[in-house]
Amino acid sequence: MTRLVMLNQALRLTDNPLLQQQDDCIALLQQQDDCIALVLLEKKQFFGSQFGITRASRLRLGHQLWLVEDFRLQLAKLQLPLLCVLADSTELLPQLIKTLGISAVTMAEPVAEEERQLQQLAAHYVPVSCVDLNSLLGDSLRPELAAFPDSFSQFRKAREPELRVSSACADNNISGRWLGATELAKTKESAAWLLTLEANWQQQLLLCPKPHNIHIAAGRQQQAQFLAYLYENKAIYHYKQSRNQFCDVAADGAMVPPGQTPGYASFLSTALSHGSLSVRWVWQQICQLEQSLGANDSTYWLKFELLWREYFRWHQRKFGAALFRRQGLGRHPVPESQGDMALQQLKFQLWCQGQTGVPLVDANMRFLLQTGLMSNRGRQLVASYLIYDLALDWRFGAAFFEQQLLDYDVASNWGNWAYIAGAGTAPGRYFNQLKQALQYDPAAVFIRSQLPELRSLGMAAHLPYVSSIAAPYAAQLGLPPARPDWHSSLEKLQQQLQNP
Ligand SMILES: Cc1cc2nc3c(=O)[nH]c(=O)nc-3n(C[C@H](O)[C@H](O)[C@H](O)COP(=O)(O)OP(=O)(O)OC[C@H]3O[C@@H](n4cnc5c(N)ncnc54)[C@H](O)[C@@H]3O)c2cc1C
Repeated sequence: MTRLVMLNQALRLTDNPLLQQQDDCIALLQQQDDCIALVLLEKKQFFGSQFGITRASRLRLGHQLWLVEDFRLQLAKLQLPLLCVLADSTELLPQLIKTLGISAVTMAEPVAEEERQLQQLAAHYVPVSCVDLNSLLGDSLRPELAAFPDSFSQFRKAREPELRVSSACADNNISGRWLGATELAKTKESAAWLLTLEANWQQQLLLCPKPHNIHIAAGRQQQAQFLAYLYENKAIYHYKQSRNQFCDVAADGAMVPPGQTPGYASFLSTALSHGSLSVRWVWQQICQLEQSLGANDSTYWLKFELLWREYFRWHQRKFGAALFRRQGLGRHPVPESQGDMALQQLKFQLWCQGQTGVPLVDANMRFLLQTGLMSNRGRQLVASYLIYDLALDWRFGAAFFEQQLLDYDVASNWGNWAYIAGAGTAPGRYFNQLKQALQYDPAAVFIRSQLPELRSLGMAAHLPYVSSIAAPYAAQLGLPPARPDWHSSLEKLQQQLQNP
């Protein structure tokens, strides 16, 4: 038997049941399966487009390729060869199954439609088994989809009494007979084909050089980073308050690059979305910290946020394709788009480029373009602005986030967008941009760090349309003039400007 083990979304050594392909009892009784490890990146998920928006930026593609390469090198040190391909699965998978005589496939359990299609494609040829290795609730805690509660609160209340999650499996436990592609090749032709695949992968890496200023590290380093967040900086103890910041600011007022100390949030999302860190391992680390050094509101709150991630995963599994429709589940009103297509395009471009004239929105969008990341509060605000102020289809925003975010995760991204638009199970959420700006960036530090044109303005950097290419056209484009509900915040700001 030759088993194909697909390590998509499982780029880690710790708590990775896919790397344990040998049952000791079976090993004594019968011959072991040969195993081949594969990461198959689906071409259309990077080069395809939706709503005219390419699915991945060059930065995101480069980040993904190098994260996989990093993992390939880690496995190579452990004598475990990993075949990596960026291809169209409908062409590659059947050929691979046939050429290598694959008799079974094992993979991470899909969450959304496209990964499910990959599972179905493989199942067309050979038996497929799935392991749900990126959920907190696996094994005996697995919820029934039909009975899965609609709202996050219901879900949380049902789980909270025990906050029980599945335990992580043993660390660094690799077993099985792992073979390289060339050892598996049965004929000269198949050997040549496999070598071509390997050469193609190296070619892709050459075409997409390792992005500068991006911390690419599968597994170990990310574990070390999170342990430092818990034990060295003890930053988790102020998480509940600091998570509302837009970025980390050092004592001298300079912006700290994402993921480096001091740590206003955990920066777990990129590692979790690629499966290079186990969410169950993360959960256990928080519980251990609480037991050894004590718990507070903030340590609880990080677990609370991980439950949000969990909720969106099951929510996506339950509602599937409906969550990608404009009206979503159709339970609550979703705002109509305003303006003809050309006008909508223009407004969308201004939003994407961080040129709407609303400083906090622009600062967050430019931060995204520069780093591939954005804080949770930033994401909520720019999403609300696109949906309720610019009156655009929420899916344009979700597609642009998909293109840009290094931590892109189908369930969290599309789930959160649908949630804010009212397309999910709850009514939509509108945010007053100016009120939020004054509350969460009171001295306009973040705004001025991102918008050089406003740097010298002090608090006046909060005023909408002071300096933006959108400013002269605001009315003509139907961009929101200061909204009625902004008035009291504007008055407050003007008073502060007069009496600094
Ligand atoms: C419009 C929108 C789009 C989003 N798109 C994504 C996405 O593509 N990928 C992604 O991982 N997260 C997404 N989020 C959720 C959240 O913004 C990020 O997980 C978080 O900002 C990442 O930074 P962190 O790891 O430092 O978060 P922390 O604040 O430290 O949170 C810890 C972890 O909890 C989970 N979490 C926190 N908030 C949420 C949330 N609202 N929904 C789901 N999980 C959450 C994440 O796994 C996160 O890593 C989105 C939120 C919004 C409002």
